[in-house]
Order: sequence, then structure tokens, then C-alpha cells
Amino acid sequence: MRKTVIAGNWKMNLSEKEAISLAQSIKEKIPSVAKDRIPMVFPSPLHLASVARILEGTGVVVGAQNCYPSGLAAFTGETSPEQLREIGVKVVMIGHSERRQFLGESSSFCNEKIHYLLKNGYTALYCVGETLAERESGKTFEVIASQVKEGLKGIESNSFSNLILAYEPVWAIGTGKVATPAQAQEVHAFIRKEVAGLFVGASGVAESLSILYGGSVKPDNVTALLKEKDIDGGLVGGASQKIDSYQGLF
Ligand code: PEP
Repeated sequence: MRKTVIAGNWKMNLSEKEAISLAQSIKEKIPSVAKDRIPMVFPSPLHLASVARILEGTGVVVGAQNCYPSGLAAFTGETSPEQLREIGVKVVMIGHSERRQFLGESSSFCNEKIHYLLKNGYTALYCVGETLAERESGKTFEVIASQVKEGLKGIESNSFSNLILAYEPVWAIGTGKVATPAQAQEVHAFIRKEVAGLFVGASGVAESLSILYGGSVKPDNVTALLKEKDIDGGLVGGASQKIDSYQGLF
């Protein structure tokens, strides 16, 4: 059975006071409504420890937006998964389009991070998605195939239970333009097929993989998206940063 996940990406938003207040509201309201959907939140690195402390034991999973694939070492400005583990964080988002677009993160660097995380008992949430120019020039499937193949290169089939994928068309992120459920489903099915093709006997692995959709998901479109066969949850930016809209996703 695939997990259904509602992951909130707080990005570089919210002051400390706002992040703490949102975490406290989530603690109060989300566990009772979450039922068959796993709530996750990804605060900014500065607020991770406080948010993780507030949400400890609530069933709301707290994840990091990024990490460096190494134990404690000389990498100025970076965060080691070991430091995350110490504050109770064992899920890390990898390859968000804003990191690919603005910080030059490549699928091969994502692959290093995913290897490190899975080998050391963390969960990786790996994001893929095409830009508007790529979609308009008919390159959607080529781009997605390359991000999936490069990002997941060499990952063993027995590590897949600690992997979640997210399809986030870049043109739908923060723009209010949501992919139609049919458009999203088409790419999700393609991703699942690509994963199944990664190694012999991987079709069972691909079937059990949760693939989240991200791009202007809101309470009023989440139900239609989640009805699609290959959409197993949402990776949500804007609507996850206010308690009422986050609660409306459950
Ligand atoms: C995101 O941050 O990954 C995202 C999908 O943002 P939004 O929901 O605001 O489009």
C-alpha cells in the first residue's frame, strides 16, 4: 500500500515567531484530521530544531529542505544529515526546482545526496519537474526521464521504501497555475514506468513508491488531484504556510 503524504514546504518563508506559531497550531489541529494522510512539514533550516521539538511525538513528520551528503566535516554553510538526526529529523527534500534553478543543483549531485541518505537510514523526498519552456517545446518526458534516471542511478531496490518522489512542474510552482489532474496523472504514470525500468524486477518497487504532486495545490483542488491513480499526495508551498489552508488539505 502506498503512503499518502501531505508535505508542506515552508521554503525560506516565515519569521521565527511565525514558524513556531504555525508549528503549535499544527500540533493542535492536524493530528486529529490527518487520518489516512501523513502530514510532513519542511521548515527553513533555522527553525528546524524548534519546530521538530514542538511536533515531536505528534505524528507530524518534520523534514529538512536540503543537506550535504557527508558526516561532520569542513563544508561551510552546509548541514550534515548527522546534525539533522540529532534534532530528530530523518527526512530530507532533495532537488527542489528552486535549488536546481537558482543554486545550480544537478541531478547527479542529487544522486549523491540520495545515496548518502538511503545508506544511512534517512528518507529522501526527491523532486523532479519540467520548466514551461521545456513543456512548450515538447521535452517534458525527456527532462523527467533524465532527472529520474540520473537522480536514482545505482539506488538498490531494497532502499526504495525510504524514497518518496515528487513531480513538480516548475511552471505550476507558486504561480497559481495548477496542472490539471489529467496532466499530472500522465507524468506520474510515466515516472512510475521509468522507475520500474531502472532494474529488473522493479515493477513491484515502482508500484509501492509514493509520488506526490506539487504546484499550486490548495484545499479546493487537492481532492481532484488525489483521485488520480498515480498521485499519492501533495508537496505544497504557499497553502502549507497558513494553518487554515494546510488543514484544508486533509
Ligand atoms: C513548492 O514549494 O514545492 C510548491 C509546489 O509551491 P506552491 O504550492 O506554492 O506552488
